[in-house]
Amino acid sequence: MYCADGNQRRIHPILATYVADYPEQCLVSCAKYGTCPKCQQPADDLQNKTLGNPRNPKHTLSIIQKANNLRKTKSTSSGNKYCLQNNLAAAANNPFWEGFPITNIHASITPDILHQLYQGVLKHLISWCQAMITEQEMDRRLRLLPPAYGVHHFKNGISALSQISGQERKDMAKVLLGCLVDTEIPTAVLRSTKALLDFIYLAQYPSHDNTTLGYMEDALNAFQKDRNVFIEAGAREDFNIPKLHSLLHYVDSIKDFGATDGYNTEMFERLHIDFAKEGWRASNHKNRKASDDFVVGKKRKSSCF
Ligand SMILES: [Zn+2]
Repeated sequence: MYCADGNQRRIHPILATYVADYPEQCLVSCAKYGTCPKCQQPADDLQNKTLGNPRNPKHTLSIIQKANNLRKTKSTSSGNKYCLQNNLAAAANNPFWEGFPITNIHASITPDILHQLYQGVLKHLISWCQAMITEQEMDRRLRLLPPAYGVHHFKNGISALSQISGQERKDMAKVLLGCLVDTEIPTAVLRSTKALLDFIYLAQYPSHDNTTLGYMEDALNAFQKDRNVFIEAGAREDFNIPKLHSLLHYVDSIKDFGATDGYNTEMFERLHIDFAKEGWRASNHKNRKASDDFVVGKKRKSSCF
């Protein structure tokens, strides 16, 4: 391969990062759905304020090996059960990265601003806030906000919206805190909402140093300190949410792979629209069943847009 300095070199690519949304992360890392693909924290302990031991690909492969033996000697279900007991997907079998040198598939799972922060954490946060002040009151406050340059005016509120796009979530993040001020909810709700919004914005810095990573840790700690206010108010039973747990991995991932704009899924998601439409337009527009994927793209079926 010719490199930027003009020299020709023999290149051995290694799999260092895997950019995917949560279901795909579980699929490629063989993690059980509902657990963390990066660490061994059980599904019921995801709300812990610390990380579990890191998952190890050798360990994952050894469990799959044992499960395969059980499938041969006993029954398929006993092999599947063994996988589930060890926090692996029941159908985990022969992952594509088996035999890849150096690759640690669990460590290579990256943070994801679009799916984890906007379509995950912020979505939860908005629903908790709606539960605190009621959906009607949230809608009323959004309608009352004066129009301003660069700020989306939700003239019908947000409770009736379906299929909320990433951009719409970003627009909601800008006005969420303003809608909570001067209500009868505890101040801890404001503090934890502010802390989580801070984290979302800090995570998108295009460059980081130890100071800014410290800001991210401070924001997460501040949220964790006050978050129980949502449980006390009945807006939430626990915080065992994989996407919320994933925030604990952000600082380490940024140290390993650099700022999050290098592996945000947003750009690739955007390409779904154009590429799906191009495919549909190039087709005969008739065989709809065979072209279901194109129809999906045409109708903006994905909830990510
Ligand atoms: Zn984890």
